[in-house]
Amino acid sequence: MTSAPPESADAPKGAERLDHFMARAAAAYYAARDPFQDFATSPEISQAFGECLGLWAAVTWQAMGRPDPVLLVECGPGRGSLMADALRAIAEMMPDFRAALRVCLVEISPRLREAQAAKLGDAGAVWHADVASLPEAPIILLANEFLDALPIRQFIRRAEGWRERYVAGGAFVELPSDVALPEDAPEGTIQEVNEAAQRFAAWLGARLARYGGAALLIDYGPAEGGFGDSLQAMRAGQPVDPLAAPGEVDITAHVDFAAFAEAARAAGAVTYGPLPQGVFLQRLGFMTRAAMLARLDPRRAQAQLAAAHRLTAPEAMGRLFKALALCDSSLPIPAGFETA
Ligand code: SAH
Repeated sequence: MTSAPPESADAPKGAERLDHFMARAAAAYYAARDPFQDFATSPEISQAFGECLGLWAAVTWQAMGRPDPVLLVECGPGRGSLMADALRAIAEMMPDFRAALRVCLVEISPRLREAQAAKLGDAGAVWHADVASLPEAPIILLANEFLDALPIRQFIRRAEGWRERYVAGGAFVELPSDVALPEDAPEGTIQEVNEAAQRFAAWLGARLARYGGAALLIDYGPAEGGFGDSLQAMRAGQPVDPLAAPGEVDITAHVDFAAFAEAARAAGAVTYGPLPQGVFLQRLGFMTRAAMLARLDPRRAQAQLAAAHRLTAPEAMGRLFKALALCDSSLPIPAGFETA
């Protein structure tokens, strides 16, 4: 999803625009390493997460008029846990939906594709490197921590105007910017632009408007843009310098939900949220499911309840993480977003 425009003529030798640096670092990282040693994601923390999202998809499918076939798409499926948990819940609660759906996984990493294939067994999954090659049919799309991995550009306001950040020798260098940004921003302001996310939003909005369906995107970031520098990297659960060791650390940025939703609406979708993840999950019955899992396996009861708390508590992942839904305009308000 990242194209490579030519580097600026006055860039120091070897300087790489931040989004190109980040795309290269992310591709190398996901191709070679097990990201789950460096950070924990919701589907890896609690199986109830994928189960609730599977049931969200099932309710959405009913609201769509039960199309057959329908694509159940996941972008950036990681180890395949979310999809495995979703499919198990769907098969149990709504077998008609299980029979109608085709599993499509959008994944760039060959290594993670193997992990997903092992996890999903005979689910009939088909892999795509990009959403552009998905077949033409109604879709229900899920993505958790996918947008935060897409490469960003960063701009910084200096006395002489906006400058763009490039990376050279493990540090930022600033070059003239060709992007129009607010002239009245105070000096030192940092503005991030995620062009890959914008393109994805535009594709998704147009796809939903044309073929029908809905999407649920869960990621981390504030509800409004203008949050400054959010580039970060994690190694073994600890924050590290995002520029120091490209390909060896997990590098991400906050998602600008407002910009993403606006791009999707401009392309024809209706948007709901973003809602704090904790609120969204509780409305889907996540806590009830977690309590049931705790009862079913008393030896793991404490761990199940601690995991549920981690995903929903405001001071843990419940507030910083957000859920955003995109729908075609014929659909009612999606489950969980009633008063968003
Ligand atoms: N959703 C999973 C994994 C999150 S990590 C979970 O919640 O556990 C990000 C995932 O997105 C990885 O599977 C990574 O390989 C994939 N990914 C990153 N950039 C991508 C891109 N441009 N296209 C497709 N997949 C990408």
